[in-house]
Amino acid sequence: KTPAAIIGAGIGGIATAVRLACQGHAVTVFEAEASFGGKMHQLGLPGGYRFDGGPSLFTLPQLVDELFRLAGRTPTDYFRYERLDPITQYFFADGTRLTAWAEEPRFAQEVEEKLGVPAADVLSFLRQSGRAYEGTADTFLRHSLHKAGTYLRPEVLKAMAVLPQLGLLSTMHQRHAAAFPQDARLVQLFDRFATYNGSDPYQAPATLSLIPHLEHGLGAYYPEGGIYAIAASLVKLAEELGVQFRYQEPVQEILTAGGRVSGVRTSRGIYDFPLVVSNMDVVPTYRRLLPQLPAPEKTLQQPRSSSALIFYWGIGREFAELGVHNIFFSQDYRREFEAIFLEKTVADDVTVYVNITSKKTAADAPAGHENWFVMVNVPHDQGQDWPALVAHTRRAVLQRLHRALGVDVGPYIRAEQVWDPPGIARRTSSVGGALYGSSSNNMLAAFLRHPNFSRKLPGLYFCGGSVHPGGGIPLCLLSAAIVADLLSA
Ligand code: FAD
Repeated sequence: KTPAAIIGAGIGGIATAVRLACQGHAVTVFEAEASFGGKMHQLGLPGGYRFDGGPSLFTLPQLVDELFRLAGRTPTDYFRYERLDPITQYFFADGTRLTAWAEEPRFAQEVEEKLGVPAADVLSFLRQSGRAYEGTADTFLRHSLHKAGTYLRPEVLKAMAVLPQLGLLSTMHQRHAAAFPQDARLVQLFDRFATYNGSDPYQAPATLSLIPHLEHGLGAYYPEGGIYAIAASLVKLAEELGVQFRYQEPVQEILTAGGRVSGVRTSRGIYDFPLVVSNMDVVPTYRRLLPQLPAPEKTLQQPRSSSALIFYWGIGREFAELGVHNIFFSQDYRREFEAIFLEKTVADDVTVYVNITSKKTAADAPAGHENWFVMVNVPHDQGQDWPALVAHTRRAVLQRLHRALGVDVGPYIRAEQVWDPPGIARRTSSVGGALYGSSSNNMLAAFLRHPNFSRKLPGLYFCGGSVHPGGGIPLCLLSAAIVADLLSA
């Protein structure tokens, strides 16, 4: 058994631990914090409220099942989930409300009734998004883009044929505006999918308009017990497979000898490991843990994705018109993204996302109450005055909710905690608290992400949201699969 060290117990690190243990490695995970999960942590607030700290939308659950099956287990013995229907409640700035039903024809019908866009146009757009996803996902998400072998596979030709159909030179917004010239609200709805990897729909390439297929075609899911259950169930599996988790033991240096990895130095000691996988953001991995190694500067200097301001609110009443996922759109979407990506600030009128897990897991809030995870997209930390931006955003959120719900939510807030970009950076080591590593605001972003291995240092590998294939739960899980494939090749 080759001993392997994993730096960080984020979802990418946990999934890699499971895969390497299944390959027969003796795996130790070093985690700086007192518990696992990283961005996928949970928290409680006084009064009996539980929150998922970071991710709230879960797609491609089969990637989690795959890990249990790989270990010879029955997934449902560890982890259960249901398909969400409806998926999202949308509240547009003009007062229109729209329900995103799980079945595409029903959703398309709802769009026709509420927005006046023919259902056939919506279905045709979704089907094209589906074909694009099916044609490209295997090549771009399941394999390393940095190994020649990937480009010799027959699927690559299929992917190359599909991509131009999406409009290689246009932006995501241009593509949506061309598909739905009749209705700016539907354009805004589909543009929002750029935020699923922290990007700007007015800059991101049209190829990203395959993201809606993940939610509308393949489905949004709710894990029993909330998103944290994904990390918790996989840690249970990893421990059964013999993986050792060493908490509150940050890695301070990756050690090298004879031009390859030889181990790690942590806050508590020095350990020999011929194999090290970093689940820490790739930028501080180079800057802090490998100061002697020349860093791949072009890769590390790619623009970061957006970050988020999250208000965790224990709410002292129930709102029957809300579901698990709720979006309250701003009036001027372009202005919001200019503020985030060009001016590095927060607009006055913001789109607000509210996730309420107590709609599904009653124990997450006391009877008659709800647990609101309220999120606004913001720039990553570049030294802004965050206390002032938090106060500004909180006011904007309450105003937006008041307009949509006809209720001043402020007096119902019984418990509160805030997570801002500097806080996200401190808790997870992500540069500036960027949620998804580098942004996908240009055509080549996919190729400019750091590979899942080091070109300079044999024995060093990378997983998690800051490297290929990118951020978000499914892609972090796929990064683990790519690392495991590279090691078994
Ligand atoms: P991370 O979660 O970044 O964890 C890295 C771990 O490494 C941390 O535990 C950290 O403590 C540890 N670490 C760092 N340095 C060291 C060191 N030197 N030694 C030891 N340990 C170290 N994704 C979705 O799919 N759907 C969503 O709805 C969604 N919403 C999000 C909302 C928010 C507010 C946030 C923050 C993220 C969201 N994401 C979402 C993104 C998703 O959460 C991340 O892409 C994913 O969880 C990142 O996992 P990771 O493996 O990169 O590790």
